[in-house]
Amino acid sequence: MAILFRKSKYSTLSSVPPTDISAVAPHHAGLSAEPSKRKEIPEGLWEKCKKCDEMIFVKTRKDNMNVCPRCGYHYPLTAKQRIELLTDEGSFTEIDAEMVSVDTLKFTGVASYSEKLAASKAKTGLKDAVVCGKASLQGIPFALGVMDFRFLGASMGAVVGEKITRLVEFATAEKLPLVIVTASGGARMYEGMISLMQMAKTSGALEYHKEAGLPYIVIMTHPTTAGVTASFASLGDLIYAEPEALIGFAGPRVIKDTTQAHLPEGFQTAEFLLKKGLIDRIIDRKNLRQELVSTLEYFNFYANSTKETKKRSSK
Ligand SMILES: [Zn+2]
Repeated sequence: MAILFRKSKYSTLSSVPPTDISAVAPHHAGLSAEPSKRKEIPEGLWEKCKKCDEMIFVKTRKDNMNVCPRCGYHYPLTAKQRIELLTDEGSFTEIDAEMVSVDTLKFTGVASYSEKLAASKAKTGLKDAVVCGKASLQGIPFALGVMDFRFLGASMGAVVGEKITRLVEFATAEKLPLVIVTASGGARMYEGMISLMQMAKTSGALEYHKEAGLPYIVIMTHPTTAGVTASFASLGDLIYAEPEALIGFAGPRVIKDTTQAHLPEGFQTAEFLLKKGLIDRIIDRKNLRQELVSTLEYFNFYANSTKETKKRSSK
């Protein structure tokens, strides 16, 4: 499956291979060396929207599920915020919370992998880039995994792959529907080959979940790229995405150089991929909780009625 990748208007990606985590790190656009004559706005109170350039009150944006109140641009959510959005209050129980990455290759660049891990842990309060567990929504139990882009660009290394795999296996054993909210800059190349193996491992576990007749729902958020797109993010029975999410595999320059093809405008957005059938629906964040309720209720009803039919026909 060829999933193409292009810098969207809202993307923070540059044209470098997606496996480079720095490719998806936010950059400081619009900084100027010119001293401003205007009165300084107290820091953190107001900000310029990344998309519409309007000044927005930060609190209003945060109270609006981190969506710009003027243009609807979806700012990222932390794993904690996402869990709150998609579960019954107090119902989430984390599994494999203590799993941590190790620097097997002793990788060093500008900073060592160990230093980067330590900095990400301090910044996010997380142990790695995915939080997994069991929760309920409107009383329906399900298994939930949520990726957090703040942790090393939510890149997939041994721990992310292992936690996702264990979550899938947990869902299969407990006969639970599975929901994974994706966001990723790709494979965690500080872990070399080990990071790439996670694609096969997570996909393999999902096959058993599917064979058990259990539903798997993916919610792709901005940005979902590279190894995660090429494995569990694209394997959902239903694939939802947030508006304008960047979704792709390789960087546009790499694709252009490899294929020598003309790349259509906006081909790595959720909207384009909806038209092409990779994504089933685009759902505004304000409707996401209710839509997930409806989806889980539908599958729950279907599972129960199938059980009833089997019971009746065996009598
Ligand atoms: Zn805006």
